Amino acid sequence: MLSDIEIAQAAKTEPIAAVADKLGIPERDWIPYGRDKAKVDYSVLKQDPGHQAKLVLVTAINPTPAGEGKTTTTIGLADALRQCGSNAVVALREPSLGPVFGIKGGAAGGGYAQVVPMEDINLHFTGDFHAIGTANNLLAAMVDNHIKQGNELGLDPRRITWKRCVDMNDRQLRNVVDGLGGVADGMPRQDGFDITVASEVMAVLCLSSSIRDLKERLSRIVVGYTFDRKPVTAGDLHAQGAMAALLKDALMPNLVQTLEGTPAFVHGGPFANIAHGCNSVMATRMAMHYGDIALTEAGFGADLGAEKFLDITCRMGGFKPDAVVVVATVRALKYNGGVPKDQLGEENLDALAAGIPNLSRHVSNMTDVYGLPCVVAINRFPTDTEAELALVADTLKAQGVNVRLSEVWAKGGAGGKELAQEVLRLVDEPNHFDFCYATGTPVKSAIEAVAKRIYRADGVDFTPGATRQLAELEKNGFGSLPVCIAKTQYSFTDDQTKLGAPEHFRITVREVKVDAGAGFVVALTGAIMTMPGLPKRPAAEKIDVTDEGVILGLF
Ligand code: ADP
Ligand code: MG
Repeated sequence: MLSDIEIAQAAKTEPIAAVADKLGIPERDWIPYGRDKAKVDYSVLKQDPGHQAKLVLVTAINPTPAGEGKTTTTIGLADALRQCGSNAVVALREPSLGPVFGIKGGAAGGGYAQVVPMEDINLHFTGDFHAIGTANNLLAAMVDNHIKQGNELGLDPRRITWKRCVDMNDRQLRNVVDGLGGVADGMPRQDGFDITVASEVMAVLCLSSSIRDLKERLSRIVVGYTFDRKPVTAGDLHAQGAMAALLKDALMPNLVQTLEGTPAFVHGGPFANIAHGCNSVMATRMAMHYGDIALTEAGFGADLGAEKFLDITCRMGGFKPDAVVVVATVRALKYNGGVPKDQLGEENLDALAAGIPNLSRHVSNMTDVYGLPCVVAINRFPTDTEAELALVADTLKAQGVNVRLSEVWAKGGAGGKELAQEVLRLVDEPNHFDFCYATGTPVKSAIEAVAKRIYRADGVDFTPGATRQLAELEKNGFGSLPVCIAKTQYSFTDDQTKLGAPEHFRITVREVKVDAGAGFVVALTGAIMTMPGLPKRPAAEKIDVTDEGVILGLF
């Protein structure tokens, strides 16, 4: 099997004009970014009559550290749907340079189910992340300048929550002291950097539905607190106009294609823990506007990604999904059944059976809590044995769970035909979609609803600090926003070593903070890193470019 980049570079792609044409996007509405990328004007969405197209969410069970193939399955399934004659369009997140040079790899799919040009998509793409980082850092500069120029608003330099950002895994910048020098050089203070995808500007961009909405959200961003603990916003600093000016083009979804020429909107990439982890609302709306069936992926397992897509993105974007695909792998089932990650390639039927309750719980969350038709896609890996695949299929069928094998990584769309046919059947099934908690639910009750109904915890404990923050939040008028829970992706609990389908546990919320621009309250369980570091052997060591300008070693 060739590497992902070898497959992608050998592919014959169509000019982006042909892809735009396929969707019937008028020439005046798309802007070419080179030969095989374009940005698409969203003004068409203003006239969108509401959603005629079907919307399918791709999510997964609790993963292994390597990822279970949600992106790969989303892309391959769309190709398969096109082979079945439907006008399928993909909406995906843009990769961050952090993981590209770090450990996890890219986010453009894998094998014969990729979006291309994968090198561009994984590197600078159309510059959206640079624009987001610049808007973030403009606000940071304006915050410190305000203090330097006399601090009319009374911002407490010890209570500034707005950080600078850079799209890189660079732990050296996690905590810094800046403003050193003399009186002319600013006010010295402890500061820090986040990775760009963790910036609230990213979440804001992904949830905005117009330039006006973008500006309103930017102006609501809380940058810190005054000496008497009142929130100070980007609007107080008059920063939203210039920030929106920097983001004008970044707000337009990017159009690319899969290896098989299926149109794909790749746009936005918020963190899946401290943010909602889905591509932009704009990209999903556009996929639904131009396609008959739109496929989108949510980050991490279904307890985090699908929950946030359904309770945050769908609530804010006004989406009503038609079906859910839960991706599972034999490897992740064995991992959830207790097999260490270096032994996942060996057949182990007992561990496999022991891991299945994890999958069953995610499926019942989708069908029983959210009321959505659902199918499990077993993403076949080369190491899976026939006995293992048969055991998964038989066990799930015996439980009445809908399941199909997906071989899109090895075969492209042709490997996803059965899954595609099942998805086409499901999107016409009765649909009882409902949120996990009603709009306007107090933050504390919303956290408890997710913990009890989705994680199946007995309850939630709030540390004294979190309790105080909740009270402050309410006082400042943020007490009934939707919640974005940051939790380990490996477990239903807040302890990453408790795999499978644990019972009789409680969740501890250590910190609660408002992302007023994004419009949600973030509840942190455990320590969440918003500036990752590089591993001992970063992927960057293997990446190169030839004299001819061909990129090498990107997965
Ligand atoms: P996720 O979106 O769930 O994080 P990805 O689709 O990005 O997962 O896949 C993670 C990694 O696993 C990628 O490097 C991809 O090429 C690889 N991968 C996915 N599916 C398969 C498969 N069936 N066989 C082998 N490798 C796969
Ligand atoms: Mg992915």
